[in-house]
Amino acid sequence: MNPDVEKLWELQNVLTQLGDREKQLTSKPESFAAIDREWQQANDDMSRLEQSIESLSKERRRVDGELDDQQEMLKKYQGQLMQVKNQQQYAAAWKEIDATRRHVKELEDSELKTMTDVEALQKDLDERRNGSAELKSRWDVAHEAWQHSLGDLRTEVQQLKARAASIEAQLSDGLKRNFYQIFKQRQNVAVARVVSDSCSACRTRVRPALMQQLQRGDLVYCEGCHRILYFEKAQS
Ligand SMILES: [Zn+2]
Repeated sequence: MNPDVEKLWELQNVLTQLGDREKQLTSKPESFAAIDREWQQANDDMSRLEQSIESLSKERRRVDGELDDQQEMLKKYQGQLMQVKNQQQYAAAWKEIDATRRHVKELEDSELKTMTDVEALQKDLDERRNGSAELKSRWDVAHEAWQHSLGDLRTEVQQLKARAASIEAQLSDGLKRNFYQIFKQRQNVAVARVVSDSCSACRTRVRPALMQQLQRGDLVYCEGCHRILYFEKAQS
């Protein structure tokens, strides 16, 4: 058995575990992800309600302004009514007053409806805010548990990194470079075990001549995927 390949195989295993732990560090566990989704959803619902309330309130302020204008005009027309000189002017002034009154009524109705809508939305929002306190405390507990578990994972990552560094220190620069080049090009697998005379990574058959080289302890590359082959002698 080639001692270099033995080290590369060990390095490969350490790096595989390291990759696995690092992935765990960055992905939410399902136990937390489920409550996190629920919490996000509740927050989205509440901000949608806040936005609706905001835009209705804006509309209400606009209608309010228009209502003021119309009431001013109504006063003006009522003033004019005092100064009419004939029946025709009187009828015309009344027509304006009548139309403006109708407009004022419409605006008042619209304002009332908006106020009722805002009240209903506000009530819904308040209820959701009260209800979300319990959800938030569950979220906090799940988040805390997840963060706590990451501590152990981080320790493990440190240990694996130290292990990888100590193996690398035993390799020649050329071999190390060669290993990492294949590692990057081949989905983080630079060394493949030979199983039943085949490369376990790409299933290419290892020719008998290469098997002999492997048994001699040579550094042999797979003819299919060009990974370094690792061959364990059958235990007898
Ligand atoms: Zn292969």
